[in-house]
Amino acid sequence: KFYETIERDNPKINAFLEVKIDEARALAEGIDKKIQSGEKTGKLAGLVVGVKSNINVEDFHITAASRTLENYLGSYDATVIKRIKAEDGIIIGMTNMDEFAAGSSTETSAFGATDNPAAPGRIPGGSSGGSAAAVAADMCDLSIGSDTGGSIRNPASHCGVFGFKPTYGAVSRQGLLDLAMSFDQIGPFSKDAAGTAMMLDVIAGNDPTECTSLAWEVPDFTSLAAKAGADPESSFKGVKLGVVKQFQDVSDEKIVNIIEESINKMEDAGAEVVELSFDHIDMCLPTYYLINYVEFFSATRKYDGRKYGERIEEVCGEEVLRRINMGAYISQQEFSGKYYKKALQARSLIRKEMNKLLKDVDAICGPTVPKLPHKTGTSLETMEMYAYDVLTVIANLAGIPAASMPAGDVNGVPVGLQFQAKPLDDAKIMEFMAALE
Ligand code: GLN
Repeated sequence: KFYETIERDNPKINAFLEVKIDEARALAEGIDKKIQSGEKTGKLAGLVVGVKSNINVEDFHITAASRTLENYLGSYDATVIKRIKAEDGIIIGMTNMDEFAAGSSTETSAFGATDNPAAPGRIPGGSSGGSAAAVAADMCDLSIGSDTGGSIRNPASHCGVFGFKPTYGAVSRQGLLDLAMSFDQIGPFSKDAAGTAMMLDVIAGNDPTECTSLAWEVPDFTSLAAKAGADPESSFKGVKLGVVKQFQDVSDEKIVNIIEESINKMEDAGAEVVELSFDHIDMCLPTYYLINYVEFFSATRKYDGRKYGERIEEVCGEEVLRRINMGAYISQQEFSGKYYKKALQARSLIRKEMNKLLKDVDAICGPTVPKLPHKTGTSLETMEMYAYDVLTVIANLAGIPAASMPAGDVNGVPVGLQFQAKPLDDAKIMEFMAALE
């Protein structure tokens, strides 16, 4: 079924950069036999998974949608991939993305833009646009992506699917090509809360081979989501939800109206809604991008043309080059303390402020993205592109869990509702999403 859809629609949508159908079919047949003979199968038995092209999967092309790694073949499985395979998930292919995950539209891919299946002609968001589009277009059951400043939540919002960025450290980053390693997290896309929960159950948990991985007790996301879905009222009873004035103020009015409908529904189901004020909204984008540039510059030094593929500066696109140049400039010794250290100080202020706000509420909810996706190919100023990220970078700066679920649409263009919660309160977000679905 998925193969037919991919064959028919992928040339137009360009969600997948590489598909291995024969291997996927062989795996499916193997799992089928297991089921028929009564053998125990894994949690993802028979489910077809798409993977963002910056996560290592053995024998697939791990290009990060860049000419730099055009011919780079994965030589091992990332920890999350090992876990998906161990639970009988079938990896069908690698999805499109912004080059090295640096973008919010999937237009900077060296292999062409991805179309938005829910709103054809518009961007699917980014940088994990291919993973969101693949799920939205029924080309796979589930997919995974990475979120550095919104790259899971933003395309989930624009394509009308669920996308979850776990607490920093909750899911192993081992085998992920980093954009900015102090922000990056891997997470799932699905058409529903149940699928999101199932994938989280599989990929979350401590990985001793990854130094930022947390030793935490992973909740049973699947049962929690099922329970919340079956009894939404008890999930919202006694719950306090925060609505941040500034998050609404920076957003398109049409988006705010849709978000308010969702909030009203949760209030009707018993939640108490309180208004909060976040005073550092203007600091978020500059802080995020400064740190992103510096960490990305450092991460790209290994692409010098000797070990992996081409020398990055010689083949990369404009946005990647901007970040390398800016990162090199900012981190010069003579500027020590001027930019990077200031950004780190601002980051800790933002984190403190978010944690303070979250102390009094179970979750903060609001728009995922402040504006609707533009028509593919529209030329945008750099700052206009970055403006898509103002509400998503906060969770990465603070290291907290955040997710987006479909809330409605503006003339057919999907709008996402974002939940943010305290560190390791990922399960709460999962429950609220399942209850509201
Ligand atoms: N759009 C943001 C950026 O360009 C976020 C990207 C991401 O989360 N990978 O950095």
